[in-house]
Amino acid sequence: MIGGGIVGTSAAYFLNQLAPADQVQVTLFDNGTGQATKAAAGIISPWLSKRRNQHWYHLARDGAVVVKQLATATKMDTQTYANNGTIITRKDAAQVFDLEQLARERKQLAPLMGEIRSLNPSEIKQLLPMLTNMQQPGLFISGGSWIDGNRFCQHLLAQCAQAMVHVVSEQVTLADEHQLITTGGVQRFDKIIVATGAWTKQLLQSINVKADIRPQKGQLIELQLPHATLPNRPVLMPESEYDFIPVASDRLIIGATHEDDQGFDLTETPAATTDLLQTAKHLIAGISSENVILKRVGTRAYTSDYGPFIGSVPEHADLLVGTGLGSSGLTTGPLVGKLLAQLALDQTVDLTTYSKPVTNYLRSER
Ligand SMILES: Cc1cc2nc3c(=O)[nH]c(=O)nc-3n(C[C@H](O)[C@H](O)[C@H](O)COP(=O)(O)OP(=O)(O)OC[C@H]3O[C@@H](n4cnc5c(N)ncnc54)[C@H](O)[C@@H]3O)c2cc1C
Repeated sequence: MIGGGIVGTSAAYFLNQLAPADQVQVTLFDNGTGQATKAAAGIISPWLSKRRNQHWYHLARDGAVVVKQLATATKMDTQTYANNGTIITRKDAAQVFDLEQLARERKQLAPLMGEIRSLNPSEIKQLLPMLTNMQQPGLFISGGSWIDGNRFCQHLLAQCAQAMVHVVSEQVTLADEHQLITTGGVQRFDKIIVATGAWTKQLLQSINVKADIRPQKGQLIELQLPHATLPNRPVLMPESEYDFIPVASDRLIIGATHEDDQGFDLTETPAATTDLLQTAKHLIAGISSENVILKRVGTRAYTSDYGPFIGSVPEHADLLVGTGLGSSGLTTGPLVGKLLAQLALDQTVDLTTYSKPVTNYLRSER
């Protein structure tokens, strides 16, 4: 396995779950620099996205179910997974009404959405008391949740049998479909799973496979609130603003930027902090740069059509890849990892619901 973000870690977890311990050994190599999973905001609430891509929607809808199943089965604590609902705001009540219709329609095939309820601005303020200046109405979806990507992965790895899953913190290179060049020399594997996110293009270059993957920089900030409010508050996704993720009664994440022209740069920029702070200032009185206690930067992976892809690399049946998860990879990543684990174990998997053919994104140049 190459890559220890949410895709690689979930794949390792499911291999550990699905395979007989004496038959499968997993080595997970992870460089870790710029990892999107560690930097992410963590919102799991895909149902009312404006995206029209049906492959993506099915992956995100079913992915949210896998996130919940993992959190429940492995007893994640509330700092790792919190199901407090999401509130999505719109400019006026008519737009909220339309959103509610869509939500009720979508819920028929997505029961995880739970309770759907429209809220006026003062009802939103009751649920999120830190908002001193909330003027838009919104829709509450009780099934929405939030995860801490880094803790989620560490927790999953801790569930794996140590004799079966071995983690190595280093950068590796592909020699061919079965061999990796590591600091300890060339190592051979029956199958290799590529879960390298934004770095997939570089990795596959060494075996002459061209990947349609580009990096996108994302930055977010965490604020210490002037006054503690209530614990276990819902995530707020305000129309045309950055999202608010209350991670504790006195702390709030605001994020995240989408920067297409910065390559793999990982510097925190004053312009992004100012921009993110602006959203906070719109809705909370008395916020300034002094409230910023943390900044995070990571690199997302995008394909040209924004669709994730999963499957075998063309002409390399034992080399499996799952990437291009963009801005919703914490939602889709655990399911992508599960599908990769099933493929690695030669189980029959129907990928057509979730991904266009891999050949849309990968081309062998031999
Ligand atoms: C700021 C920000 C906010 C986000 N917010 C959300 C959100 O609210 N909700 C949501 O669902 N998603 C969100 N995302 C998206 C989500 O984080 C990503 O889509 C997802 O984490 C991608 O997971 P991954 O495992 O594919 O890649 P990554 O997490 O990037 O992991 C890939 C790993 O592979 C390693 N690697 C690469 N090449 C090699 C090599 N040659 N050898 C060894 N290791 C290697 C990298 O170092 C990295 O650790 C956000 C992302 C960012 C950046």
